[in-house]
Amino acid sequence: MTLQDSRGETLQPSAYRLRCRDPHSAPAYGLGESVPLTGLHRVPEDLIGESLTALLDLTIPENAKVPLFAAEWVTVDGATGGSWDHAPDLSGDFAFSYPLPPAEEKDGQRSYLVSLLEIVLDEVDLLVDGEFVNPSALLTGSGYFPLRVRPLAQPHPLAERTENAKAAIRRQPLFSVSQTEPTIPILARHWSLLAPLLRISKNGEHTEPEGFRLRRTGDWVVPSHGHPSEVYEHLARVCNVACSFCYLFGNPDTLAIARAKKSIARDELDTRIAYYRPQERRALFSAQWELNEFLVDPRLPEVMKTLRETTDRPFFFTTNGNPLTPRIVEQLAEVKPVHFVVSTNTVDEPLRQEVMKERPNRTWTALHCLQELRKHEIPFGVSLVATPDFPLEDLTRTIETVSELDPNFIRVNEPGFTRDHPSPMDFDTDILWGSVIEWAQSMREKTHVPIIAIPSAYEENFFYDDPLAARVIGTIPGSPAAACGLRPGDVIVGVGYLRPTTRSEVVSSLMLVKGLVKLRIRRAGQSLDLTLDTELPPTYPYTGPYIGKYLVPHGVVTAPSISSGDARGIAQQIEDVGSRYSWLVTSSLMLPAARAFIERSVADHADCIDFVVATNDYLGGNIRVMDMCTVGDIHAALVRHQEKTGRTPDLILVPATGFNAHGRDLVGRHWGDLERAWNIPVRLLGHTTQFVF
Ligand code: SF4
Repeated sequence: MTLQDSRGETLQPSAYRLRCRDPHSAPAYGLGESVPLTGLHRVPEDLIGESLTALLDLTIPENAKVPLFAAEWVTVDGATGGSWDHAPDLSGDFAFSYPLPPAEEKDGQRSYLVSLLEIVLDEVDLLVDGEFVNPSALLTGSGYFPLRVRPLAQPHPLAERTENAKAAIRRQPLFSVSQTEPTIPILARHWSLLAPLLRISKNGEHTEPEGFRLRRTGDWVVPSHGHPSEVYEHLARVCNVACSFCYLFGNPDTLAIARAKKSIARDELDTRIAYYRPQERRALFSAQWELNEFLVDPRLPEVMKTLRETTDRPFFFTTNGNPLTPRIVEQLAEVKPVHFVVSTNTVDEPLRQEVMKERPNRTWTALHCLQELRKHEIPFGVSLVATPDFPLEDLTRTIETVSELDPNFIRVNEPGFTRDHPSPMDFDTDILWGSVIEWAQSMREKTHVPIIAIPSAYEENFFYDDPLAARVIGTIPGSPAAACGLRPGDVIVGVGYLRPTTRSEVVSSLMLVKGLVKLRIRRAGQSLDLTLDTELPPTYPYTGPYIGKYLVPHGVVTAPSISSGDARGIAQQIEDVGSRYSWLVTSSLMLPAARAFIERSVADHADCIDFVVATNDYLGGNIRVMDMCTVGDIHAALVRHQEKTGRTPDLILVPATGFNAHGRDLVGRHWGDLERAWNIPVRLLGHTTQFVF
């Protein structure tokens, strides 16, 4: 068999690699390694038998009720057959079991081999001399077969997103792994392709495979960050309230995040703990379930104690607060460092009960947990949602009340909703979001706690002249920054002898300096010098420069921003490809910052870069962030821009923010499908910052 590219040239791949986000970050996840290919040009004589053997090496099929450790098989045309007999796994590990997805669309002309190759190409990139190649057709003895890329707006069909906790075998939705361990959905799709070609019988009785389990759990221990959240996040599969604004209710059915019906099973939790090896940076493959309430699972204290014996890394929890009884807080104080974000929302008990559908005794616990956290010196942030359910006067009262307890920040979330959200949210987003920003700005004058409006890009890009300026949102109480007299609204323009010009450069400079450092700031049009003492001993609630994934050097809180590393990345990509006309994909929210950034930091190439604004068509509603754009959304924006300009670029630059380590988007599509579909170099940008473009 022969592979061809779109120009009809023969391709002779010499290696393959699992598709990942990008070659720079891939090694950190154990990805990106190329594996030599031998025998790709040979089609095995017993293709079906060899495929089945390969599948049975990693999986055991299951019918509706039991795993088929032993069975006989024959192809439907009776041409070949055999049997298998595998010993059951006696390790005591949890059996990870998955359903078979619906079969891919049938096309009478397409052979099993062609369909299998299309499935495999969703998982691997083929390489010639280390360079990615894009096969577009397969030539075999039976004919010429174009290799299709599934329409980019269509996720792969993967059965149900919600687990069926009542079935005889409690199978996990494939959606739990389609972003994080794409090999498992590939095995599932292969089973769905192969099963109709086989007749399987057990003890002489015909049986249909309906799912499969992973044969050996140990095969699925993979490189990891080593952060304990890889285990304890699984405790957050369900919630004990139902907030009217909860974004989880608006998740589409094709989102590559599974929805649970019950808490994690004890044996799954035990298995995940057993394989969690932070020293070796390895853990069981991760799975994505909707993140609900961490503390609702009664096993939490016991699990955190076990995890603390293996790692000293901080535990971070987001909670609605109602499971945080004094006893639980006391137990968590024993496993410090622990950090909380408490979704308080309001201090008005009846209002909270109504909007969050919470039982009254739980509300009491939720509103008193902040005192308990303070008593045990566990740092916490407070989260509020500025939905019309909580009027600004109520949020003002809430901020005044919680500020007395020294949270290290207060997060005000602009209300967001998707097209599928069940509660009507009929407000004008810009009017409401704008009024929230103006209110938040005024509240910053009244409290010593930093008030962060999320998404911060909305405020930074639409309320100030320079979207890249190092504007101070606030300072963490107890930090050196709080002691030095920085105020909300100050713009830092000098750090010691350094003269950084963007927010990201200021943050990097602050991370470098030590001792007594002069900060030059602009305040109300005046220039002013302050002295920052980085050696000042931290006092509660400041604990250091990181709060989860947020960087707050010496307690200075600014919005995340595009970094100078990204500028180097863009210039490099343009020069590598020799591009004369590139498209840079961005969101409407980030367009002002993206323009300013390119003009200021990539000035040499600014003339050859055109901006393409992607919209969140997949999620709909009022979502407008690039991190939540799918491959389909980006593709649609590229098509629109091509129609509008009548031009086609020679390079497409796409922000990396919406793609995980495996390069998968919200629905599990790999970004490389854009390159396969457009046949133009597509490059991912922004490995250094969290929010880009
Ligand atoms: S507490 Fe959080 S997870 Fe639970 S319903 Fe409310 S928003 Fe959703």
